[in-house]
Amino acid sequence: MSHEIHLSAALGAVRHACRVARAIQQDLGRVREITKDDRSPVTVADFAVQAIVAMAIRGIGQETRIVGEEYTAELRRDEHAAVLEAVVAAVHTYRPGVSAEEVLDAIDTCNHDASAEAYWALDPIDGTKGFLRGQQYAIALARIEDGRVVLGVMGCPNLPADFSRPLEKPDTHGTIYGAVHQGGAWELPADEPSAQRNPIAAAAEPIGEGLRICESVEKTHSKRSDAARIVEAFGGPAQPVRLDSQCKYAVVARGQADAYLRMPASRTYVEKIWDHAAGSIIATEAGAVVTDITGAALDFTHGRQLETNRGIVCAAPHAHGRIIEAIDRLGIGATV
Ligand code: AMP
Ligand code: MG
Repeated sequence: MSHEIHLSAALGAVRHACRVARAIQQDLGRVREITKDDRSPVTVADFAVQAIVAMAIRGIGQETRIVGEEYTAELRRDEHAAVLEAVVAAVHTYRPGVSAEEVLDAIDTCNHDASAEAYWALDPIDGTKGFLRGQQYAIALARIEDGRVVLGVMGCPNLPADFSRPLEKPDTHGTIYGAVHQGGAWELPADEPSAQRNPIAAAAEPIGEGLRICESVEKTHSKRSDAARIVEAFGGPAQPVRLDSQCKYAVVARGQADAYLRMPASRTYVEKIWDHAAGSIIATEAGAVVTDITGAALDFTHGRQLETNRGIVCAAPHAHGRIIEAIDRLGIGATV
């Protein structure tokens, strides 16, 4: 089946999911009040997005293996009835009238173990902490065939397309990014279904003095002191931009930062495929280079995790080689 059919289903689902997630994020207080749970808004958004994407992908008609992050065991329990009700209400904005059982069933189709030749990887709400803080998060959907990411769509409901707007504040439109293998990468406003795809490209030369990077807001996800040593090796001022989720891949892909550095902060953590599949193809198709901290390509042939990779270096071509060299020279990653 052609990637255009896959892309159009993925784009339709992600576009609607952006709307649903945004409505829930703007109404955190009400959802918390109904469910008596502080984290419930992200739970509701996670499940609702997963159901919407699963329904859209199933609508294509062929095999629909999806590797998703969420399972329904908890959601099926009586004490979570209020959460389920909120999830079903959110899904009704996409498919009016579907039953709770149909919603649960759709969520449960996302339990594939990433062993098939072709499947989808979905992070329904990537950057849950950003979502709860009212900042950046992403809906990340990718298709993997024969161990290679062939298509990625990433909804960034709070990411302004305009570089002059602050990245830590939610934008009123949001942006969707997409890429198909060897077809380039593009962006569109998240709230304008008829808008043209606008091609994007990673920076052809250094954006400013030194190395302009983006990294996680969460200190436990990426070792900041290691990223700072790399920036120091390039000279120039250290001005890391911190934002949650795979939006960081988009920031490099559109030429707003030279690099996204994810330096291992724990000896045991293994990166998950749904945290990198969509972002990495969008960055690569925009001309950036995406590897782990040793310079090895991301290897999507080991199931749900990037078993053989450590950390992430996503960078414009002018910077990538020098970053890997600096990591090697400084012995970064070896001592975490
Ligand atoms: P970010 O918003 O870039 O900080 O990434 C969010 C993602 O970090 C989540 O989707 C988690 O899957 C992932 N994550 C959780 N724990 C860790 C960790 N110790 N190191 C790196 N990533 C992590
Ligand atoms: Mg995630």
